[in-house]
Amino acid sequence: MANIDNLNQIAAEVKSCQLCPLYKTATNPVPGNGNANAEILFIGEAPGFNEDQQGIPFCGAAGNLLNQLLLMVGLKREEVFVGNILKHRPPENREPQLDEIAVCTPFLKRQILIIKPKLIVTLGRFSMNYFIPNAYISTVHGKLKEIIWEGVNLFVFPIYHPAAALRNGQMMTALKEDFKRIPEVIKQAKETPSAPLPPPKEETKQESLF
Ligand code: URA
Repeated sequence: MANIDNLNQIAAEVKSCQLCPLYKTATNPVPGNGNANAEILFIGEAPGFNEDQQGIPFCGAAGNLLNQLLLMVGLKREEVFVGNILKHRPPENREPQLDEIAVCTPFLKRQILIIKPKLIVTLGRFSMNYFIPNAYISTVHGKLKEIIWEGVNLFVFPIYHPAAALRNGQMMTALKEDFKRIPEVIKQAKETPSAPLPPPKEETKQESLF
């Protein structure tokens, strides 16, 4: 099946998902959108008011900023894929909770394994901590990290969340500086040979009970 069909399948599952209570208060699911064969995957936190109304990620003020930043580095929104840690809006835009993240991120995981992006750009601390637990965004923003995640090599570039930058001038400056480096960072990610994966764990054979 083509990537687009697989991603549409996930979007259909998100639409009927009732694994956490967020579907009850949300207007629309926001599974993510963009190029199914994107080299770069941007991952935010969760849909806000506008995203919930339209079912499209980053379509409000933070999304306008993201689009401008993409243009600044010569990228069009249609070239990349944009998603979130949570696929339904938390009420009043509250922070995602651990149990919501736990049940929702398998959708994101499947999206990543389908798209196989060369680079994942995390927007804000929730998506950063999904890949790099315990990291502080003030320390690691703008630093390319190569990680082994779920048995695959990934290049992750954490940057500040556009919504945070809209509220804080220093973060805006840092976000722009980090964003400007994306063309060089993607080149580096493509040129770096992947780190060797650890040997697969020996499968534990299921013992017969009889
Ligand atoms: N903020 C996010 O983290 N995601 C969106 O889709 C919109 C705003």
